[in-house]
Amino acid sequence: MNLSGKAAFLIVAMSHVGILSGMAQSVFSLTKYTYTPSALTVGTVQTKEAVKRLTLKGPTAKLFSLDKANQLSIKAEAASADKPWYDVLVEGVGAKGTIRDTFRVVKDAFIRNQVIAHRGAWKQAGTTENSIKSLQNAIALGCMGSEFDVHMSSDSVLFVNHDHTIQEIEIEKTPAAELAKVKLSNGESLPTLASYLTEGMKQTKTKLILEIKTSRLGKERSLALTERVVNMVHQMKAQAWVDYIAFDYDVCKSVKALSPEANVSYLMGDKTPEQLVADHLNGFDYHQNVVRKNEAWIQDARQRKLTTNVWTVNDKNELNWLLEQHVDYITTNEPELLLSMIQK
Ligand code: MG
Repeated sequence: MNLSGKAAFLIVAMSHVGILSGMAQSVFSLTKYTYTPSALTVGTVQTKEAVKRLTLKGPTAKLFSLDKANQLSIKAEAASADKPWYDVLVEGVGAKGTIRDTFRVVKDAFIRNQVIAHRGAWKQAGTTENSIKSLQNAIALGCMGSEFDVHMSSDSVLFVNHDHTIQEIEIEKTPAAELAKVKLSNGESLPTLASYLTEGMKQTKTKLILEIKTSRLGKERSLALTERVVNMVHQMKAQAWVDYIAFDYDVCKSVKALSPEANVSYLMGDKTPEQLVADHLNGFDYHQNVVRKNEAWIQDARQRKLTTNVWTVNDKNELNWLLEQHVDYITTNEPELLLSMIQK
């Protein structure tokens, strides 16, 4: 196949799986996207519409099995192989014909510590927050997660930045072509979500803690941003890497509606653990003052199998107190300090 033939094939293949259609709904999902050599069950295939005869296809089909309950398992030899992940093609027959979708299932080597680098690791490293470099630093340090913030341009392209504005440009009111010209203080271009996910998916140690920002242009746009984000994570097959956080409770619930298996934590601090469970969220990610005022929520959340995360804690005494409370995660601008404290 010549180059243009290859390109044409790729475009046909991409449009088939919905990459070019932008707002395409995800077809299939898995209840879990990871395996280990000692835990060969990956997850159960879920379908949004009635689909008959799910089967595995493609070059990796022989490395996996799918049982009658649509539970996907990896074969022991494949799980032990020196491969960080596999792509698995699942096919079924829906009302309008054959449907297929590809999952990336990842050997679970993700770090289990309490450290989430807030906007990446930038402060001590002397780089720009929310830059690709800050993500690379958080990965190099060995943080469990690296947090970052996502907004949508006027023409619905997703960008990573904390504030709603950058260099006095309002991200939500500016087209992507203009935003692409913006340079961060470390010389990088303003990262797109696609570039951020691509970088994060080069490794399987540090999770990507994706904050969906609340739109200033109204609820509808916050929910449109949410749908774009969840679709991009699906299309880039990044589910194993990404956990979601948001201040807007409707955004949190919307992520769960679009992607029930996603790990979603709420940021605002005004819901009890009981309420979070009732709405099927996975955890709280609350400001340190909220957690200080409601200490009992830590234990309450644990008993309800919610994860506990506290932001943005940079003070050594406060970090110590939270470690003593055995919170699951601490989001900090000082990941180096927190790592030194837990490595003692
Ligand atoms: Mg944030």
